[in-house]
Amino acid sequence: MAQSSEPPSWALAMWRGFRNRCPHCGEGRLFHRFLKVRERCEACGMELHHHRADDLPPYLVIFVVGHLVGWAILETEMRYDVPLWFQMTLWPTVALVASLLLLQPTKGAVVGLQYALGMHGFSAIRRAGARPVDGPARNETETRDGGGTDGRHIGSGRA
Ligand SMILES: [Zn+2]
Repeated sequence: MAQSSEPPSWALAMWRGFRNRCPHCGEGRLFHRFLKVRERCEACGMELHHHRADDLPPYLVIFVVGHLVGWAILETEMRYDVPLWFQMTLWPTVALVASLLLLQPTKGAVVGLQYALGMHGFSAIRRAGARPVDGPARNETETRDGGGTDGRHIGSGRA
């Protein structure tokens, strides 16, 4: 399951990235520390440094958190009698914590999307991974050698 010949869909790749997993295999971790993407996947060896997430993750986080907190402030103001000092403490804290919690998963999802769309350096990898099998479907020496210990046969082409 770690190594599939079929590339994952963009939705699955984004979901894997959101959960701090390699968009290619879904096993290895995507980040090695806060917001820092690994050079390559520790599980499948996929090169992850090709991403160019740049400003999109914070833009998306600001968009989502800003709308949610703005809506919550408006609702609180209209429905409840909450002291101003409390609101001045609560909403910046909520905005800060929500932004910090969402930023890395959002960046992971953006990296997953760039991988799935074959953007930047990911394009060459996606092309190589998705190329059609060029060779016989079965290796003729397979029965003579018996089953290999790792169960893999070069050119067996499970597509
Ligand atoms: Zn991987």
